[in-house]
Amino acid sequence: MARFEYAPAPESRAVVSLRSSYGLYVDGEFVEPLEGKSFKTINPASEEVLAEVALAGAGDVERAVAAARRAQREVWGPMPGAERAKYLFRVARIIQERARELAVLESLDNGKPIRESRDVDVPLAAAHFFYYAGWADKLDYAGFGPSPRPLGIAGQIIPWNFPLLMAAWKLAPALATGNTCILKPAETTPLSALVLAEIFQQAELPPGVINVLTGDGSTGAALVARRDLDKVAFTGSTEVGKAIQRELAGTRTRVSLELGGKAANIVFEDAPFSQAIEGIVNGIFFNQGHVCCAGSRLLVQESVAEAVLEALKRRLGTLRLGDPLDKNTDIGAINSERQLDKIVELAASGEREGAERWSPSCSIPERGYWFPPTIFTGVAPSQRIAREEIFGPVLSVLTFRTPDEAVQKANNTTYGLSAGVWTEKGSRILWMADRLRAGVVWANTFNRFDPTSPFGGYGESGFGREGGRHGLEEYLDA
Ligand code: ADP
Repeated sequence: MARFEYAPAPESRAVVSLRSSYGLYVDGEFVEPLEGKSFKTINPASEEVLAEVALAGAGDVERAVAAARRAQREVWGPMPGAERAKYLFRVARIIQERARELAVLESLDNGKPIRESRDVDVPLAAAHFFYYAGWADKLDYAGFGPSPRPLGIAGQIIPWNFPLLMAAWKLAPALATGNTCILKPAETTPLSALVLAEIFQQAELPPGVINVLTGDGSTGAALVARRDLDKVAFTGSTEVGKAIQRELAGTRTRVSLELGGKAANIVFEDAPFSQAIEGIVNGIFFNQGHVCCAGSRLLVQESVAEAVLEALKRRLGTLRLGDPLDKNTDIGAINSERQLDKIVELAASGEREGAERWSPSCSIPERGYWFPPTIFTGVAPSQRIAREEIFGPVLSVLTFRTPDEAVQKANNTTYGLSAGVWTEKGSRILWMADRLRAGVVWANTFNRFDPTSPFGGYGESGFGREGGRHGLEEYLDA
């Protein structure tokens, strides 16, 4: 089949003005870290150093906590909800105004395709602020009693896969409900949170309401170890989530954890065929598979397995891997060398344990961190690639014969964040949704996010919900 080559269509980097170094954002100002430590953040597609970023220590945490506490007691907590809403609306509008800059920055620091940061991450981040701005003056009617109170101050630790969007998920409901925040972005993707801090300044958010402490795991640990926060919200690995829960057991700090996943994407023989193929691709190859709710286990009914796999392989042959800033790119860079090593190791275990590995032929850039889209067939439920979260563009394919078997295999995991069901029968969708142990069940779609809809897990995927009215409850003393 003749195929036309795409001409390169790179987005301009000129919309982003990177500083060579960044301080911490504490009490409304950018400040130097007390211990003077810093780290480098790089572009994973080229290994180029983008900036030097401050690494916050225990003393910086102390300053941020004091600023957040004072701002909560004196300014933000007592402020009428309708006034808080104005700030949130302003932040949402500035995110929209600076959308192109934020999208390019996110793709530079994270490695994700500009198409995704432009069309998903940034618009959804703005949508979260708009949505929760709308709740700020209606909390009395949200179903949590006549005048629900904020918890106080929240420590919020976020991962690197959706840096700006995860910041918005955490900050918007906390602010709408009258809490103040200390945000700790991930060490490989601190830049969009720092631009967000500039946006808070631009929106004239009162000092101390939001503080951004960049740093690594030691910064996150120092924040949690204080044990005097009213709330800790964490999104990241199950391992760190468990450590945080252990640390805070027996304290009065409220905790919510959004952790790993190993979602089943279940395709029945009566599924709308082409949509299901697109849904499988979107389920696992969106954002290089760096998605906690990724559809990383394809469960396909045996009668259509061969046809589905054939169509899937044909479709993967058309995916374009390369420069994240090119508007035609589907698969960007793996976020870090460490993550790439993890994916390589788990994929090797799949081969060792007897599964069959397949990738389309695609050229891999010389510099940077890359992994081709990969499918494993003949996967047994006991293999590591069927049980462990790979967090990369790797799909494990299993088959089933009956709906009961599909449910049993889908639930055969310690996780429970999401699931997908592809069938033309509404009754089967409802039957499956009743039985799948997952916080979100998508029907004839996958990886669809909306600020009005709660998101969260069961089991080792964590607890607590973000988004929707449910997301308010996590920050209210109700
Ligand atoms: P991943 O393994 O995918 O990088 P992590 O759970 O290690 O995910 O990271 C998620 C976030 O948690 C990051 O912001 C990271 O700096 C932070 N973090 C890592 N270790 C700890 C810890 N012990 N305590 C608190 N936060 C941590």
